[in-house]
Amino acid sequence: MDPALQLACDFIARPSVTPEDGGCQALLAERLQKLGFSIQLLPFGKVSNLWARLGTQSPLLVFVGHTDVVPTGPLDSWSSPPFHPSIRDGVLYGRGAADMKSSIAAFTVASENFIKTQTNFSGSIAFLITSDEEGPATDGTCRVMDWLAASGEQIDYCIVGEPSSNLATGDVLKVGRRGSLGGELLIHGKQGHVAYPLLAENPIHRFTAALQDLITTVWDEGDAAFPQTTLQFSNLQSGTGAGNVIPGELSASFNLRYSTAVTADELEQRVTAILDQHQLRYTLQWIRPAQPFLTRKGALLAASQAAITECMGFVPKMSTSGGTSDGRFVAPTGAEVIELGPVNATIHQINENIPATAPDELATIYQRILEKVLPPG
Ligand SMILES: [Zn+2]
Repeated sequence: MDPALQLACDFIARPSVTPEDGGCQALLAERLQKLGFSIQLLPFGKVSNLWARLGTQSPLLVFVGHTDVVPTGPLDSWSSPPFHPSIRDGVLYGRGAADMKSSIAAFTVASENFIKTQTNFSGSIAFLITSDEEGPATDGTCRVMDWLAASGEQIDYCIVGEPSSNLATGDVLKVGRRGSLGGELLIHGKQGHVAYPLLAENPIHRFTAALQDLITTVWDEGDAAFPQTTLQFSNLQSGTGAGNVIPGELSASFNLRYSTAVTADELEQRVTAILDQHQLRYTLQWIRPAQPFLTRKGALLAASQAAITECMGFVPKMSTSGGTSDGRFVAPTGAEVIELGPVNATIHQINENIPATAPDELATIYQRILEKVLPPG
């Protein structure tokens, strides 16, 4: 079996639903130690984190990934058990096959092959691996980034192994991510009898016009890198259940996915202004899970584009679509951050799978990137 495929199977066979790591990081540490990496285990709460570094020089290239996986869903819906890796008709099945144990296997094999062939490279290689990406992400990469900042580590290049690809390995490179801003809104009214509306204040009626304004506002036009910022309501509740009662309040949740053309502060002010304009009585709580980022166009992006073209024979598309990723914790340090991983068609699904050739294709691409950004010194 090809080496990255084999290691991907070894990781999948270690069940690790968030925040569990299932022994994946111990297996990884064992492989990296053999290459001369120094290993730091950084557990925070129930979360396992690993920082491994080889070399002391800059530039520093860091592979970022997570060993945790999402729950399996009903076991009897799987055509083979989710934690028993299975290869059928050239396809690798198992929870974590795409998101993202194959990428960690490919990081490892790429590093092994690179170090074997380039004994004299310039710079350093590191791994930042957590078991808390699919969960709250509070004791994972963000905590390790704080620890790295306190230790004076400066990351130059960062490759996140999230499944970025669409149809073939490497056909899409993520070069940034939109930000996410949530709002929990409570509109206050006055409860009363539907027959006596003048004695009550109906929050449903009062909110309707503001809702219409919020969902039709153009927040920005988007640009070459990002689609337009959007606001979506996800929950809306009001009413006592009785048909003859005007409710006393209405609650609503909404989320903005936003580009780097606007800031969270700006968006909060504009939403508040719309609510005020409609003279609503309300309380609003903001949740800021992620800042947007767009990576700078530097050596890593150029190397990644060239490596994919050389290994796969096509030019990758640049994208900022999709949800958030741990790249958001690394980008603010000024590091160049790209996301490159396998096809994401089945992530988080029953029968998660990728082509069995993907782990070793990825390993070859990652190795080629290492050769380009860490040339012989
Ligand atoms: Zn993931």
